[in-house]
Amino acid sequence: MNMPEKLPFLDLITPHRELRDELCASFGRALEGGAFVGGAAVESFEREFAAFCDARYGVGVASGTDALRFAIMAAGVRKDSIVVTVPNSFIATGEAISQAGCLIDFVDIDEQTYNMDPARLREYLEEACAVDSATGELINKRLNRPVGAIIPVHLYGQTADMDPVLDLAERYGLVVIEDACQAHGAEYFSVRRQRWMKAGSMGHAAAFSFYPGKNLGACGEGGAVTTNDPEIAKTTRMLRDHGQSQKYFHEMEGFNGRLDAVQAGFLQIKLRHLTKWNEERQQAAGRYKSLFSESGATLLAPFAPDWANCVWHLFVVRVPDRHGLIKHLNDAGIGTGIHYPIPLHLQNAYRSLGYQEGDFPVSERVCAEILSLPMFPGLRPDQQERVVREVGAFLSGGDSLADRAAAEGLKLALTN
Ligand SMILES: *Cc1c(COP(=O)(O)O)cnc(C)c1O
Repeated sequence: MNMPEKLPFLDLITPHRELRDELCASFGRALEGGAFVGGAAVESFEREFAAFCDARYGVGVASGTDALRFAIMAAGVRKDSIVVTVPNSFIATGEAISQAGCLIDFVDIDEQTYNMDPARLREYLEEACAVDSATGELINKRLNRPVGAIIPVHLYGQTADMDPVLDLAERYGLVVIEDACQAHGAEYFSVRRQRWMKAGSMGHAAAFSFYPGKNLGACGEGGAVTTNDPEIAKTTRMLRDHGQSQKYFHEMEGFNGRLDAVQAGFLQIKLRHLTKWNEERQQAAGRYKSLFSESGATLLAPFAPDWANCVWHLFVVRVPDRHGLIKHLNDAGIGTGIHYPIPLHLQNAYRSLGYQEGDFPVSERVCAEILSLPMFPGLRPDQQERVVREVGAFLSGGDSLADRAAAEGLKLALTN
């Protein structure tokens, strides 16, 4: 039997092949100019990326993790204060908090959106914490430490429900840092402001990653902080560059966390395609949804609330027998991913935080059942039909590779 053509989970080759001449010309300019770190290429990309995010300032850094860490520090979140985030995220969210000298704490996610549940956040701030009458600080009763900041994560390309998060932050004087590492171009309809707002323009600051697989990815590593606050922008610029205000004048100890000029050149070229790429992801997501609903497959497709304009970094479904489905799809030549299999509070790295199974039940349930299907700009309808057909074959107990006829029947049912 012929092996079917491989369908990758993510295609990092085709978009770069299409932009090859432009990318190579940009690299050529960097070689000729000899400006590899900082300089005009970084500054013009920063301006364009900030404008794309409707933010006043953009500061290029070496990674999304740096962006998060610098944003926490630059926003003035005090060392040893608590930064509250969600267990359903990449570990970088947690790393940035600890490495900024803060303490990690979690609130659970919403079972439909998979993002921070504002009701759980309210409960945390109102019931697990109390305002110290002497200092006016909000103190977590269990940890006996002040709460300094909240990091909602815009996971899978969909913004967290920001209005209630921002309301609560305002009420308690907390900093809000958006983890927008998966949400370049995503939008949120703010009832408070009565308008759509871009990811990266809502909190005190936001962090973006340009890791190659992100919606806007470098040909290497990169990240950015966006903010409307000139002080946060200025401090982030110092933090990424050894705390320098000017060469060899160090206002503080910082880091080596700069965006290099070669990546900035690549990112500037790719940024011009980002809106079109995000639209292609949105079309692909819509197509998956209608194919799945026509197929009657018993899986949970992603929920998109009407206040979110999702950019579909990932297309995440939920199935009870995830392991079996991964194996079936893998045998059929279809790549998948899990984002993420273990919630942060149960990672070995965070054993010392003292959490146990059952502490964040929604995150735990979701992490056990989620599966990311192939999603990238340029994903073709026939490839999506194949994914839906194979998922349907697995869920209905058949094996379409062994039983082509059944699979063809399902395909007919899907397309009719
Ligand atoms: C990718 C990612 C990061 C970290 O970005 P890097 O560029 O890999 O350091 C942080 N948070 C989330 C949610 C991410 O997906």
